[in-house]
Amino acid sequence: MHKVIIIGSGCAGLTAAIYAARADLKPLVLDGYEPGGQLALTTLVENFPGFPEGILGPELIENTRKQAQRFGTEFRAGAVTSVELGQRPFKITAGKETYECECLIVAAGASARMLGIESEKHLLGHGVSTCATCDGFFFRGRDIIVVGGGDTAMEEATFLTKFAKTVTLVHRRNEFRASRIMLDRARANEKIIFMTPYAVEEVHDMDKKNVEMVTLRNVETNEKKTMAVEGLFVAIGHNPNTKVFKGQLDMDEGGYLITHDGPKTNVQGVFAAGDVQDHHYRQAVTAAGSGCMAAIEAERFLSAGH
Ligand code: NAP
Repeated sequence: MHKVIIIGSGCAGLTAAIYAARADLKPLVLDGYEPGGQLALTTLVENFPGFPEGILGPELIENTRKQAQRFGTEFRAGAVTSVELGQRPFKITAGKETYECECLIVAAGASARMLGIESEKHLLGHGVSTCATCDGFFFRGRDIIVVGGGDTAMEEATFLTKFAKTVTLVHRRNEFRASRIMLDRARANEKIIFMTPYAVEEVHDMDKKNVEMVTLRNVETNEKKTMAVEGLFVAIGHNPNTKVFKGQLDMDEGGYLITHDGPKTNVQGVFAAGDVQDHHYRQAVTAAGSGCMAAIEAERFLSAGH
């Protein structure tokens, strides 16, 4: 029986682990499908406070993990396949193992939706990005592409015009899912060029580990063309990793967990932190902050004799 189990080992989960371990709760962290979360997939992080020269995402995660370990956090690999939150102790199953806990912190994150082409995976962090706020700065004076037709794509494209020379917005349909106001704002921006209905077929150059060009396909005519660009932002949305909590934890229509009074969920003793409950800020530092809040609430909950 564990006092606290933390699901997820990104910024939110690891920060929760540091706080819970220092409160002597001996937390168990279940790593999840993407150990380290989205930071593990990025390169230089320049907006996390305390690193004047920036720090590599994987290094930041590794340091935070070691920090959590130093205070007695236990880690297990594996993704959670089912949970029983109807009564305490809560039961958490990951693969063949079932764990019991008095308190649960869900920090399972959200995964950026990807286009699903091989080259995109290879070049992630090397010209391909899923976060304009994190990486926009590196594309000063460059020609770049943003893929997507929703509000995220409009927001990212507009934000990126601060840095980029041109932003080509590539979307697979002529109609947009984005709200009128966000679309109009992007259309009014003279640095943004709209290109529809196009799909990204390939990102080059995998061998050079650098984005130099993309192949685009007109979805209606199948005509292909190449375009020289130095960056590609995939902005086709995120999926919160909440499937296993369906029917047990309250979620909004996008599947994000609903919290109240900070990190509290609808089940007493279950707290949520990071991107799994936040599609608005989605920053490493806000995720870390909410992980801290979740651990403090868990500690208070347990010491109140629950
Ligand atoms: P979204 O509304 O689901 O839009 C995703 C876009 O990506 C769609 O245009 C979709 O194309 C495209 N897409 C999905 N899979 C694709 C694929 N495999 N290849 C190519 N294109 C693909 O997601 P979102 O833009 O992230 O927005 C999510 C929610 O957050 C929305 O409710 C949005 O309003 C909200 N949001 C609000 C703000 C704001 O108000 N400031 C900012 C960001 C997000 P199709 O249209 O063809 O399906």
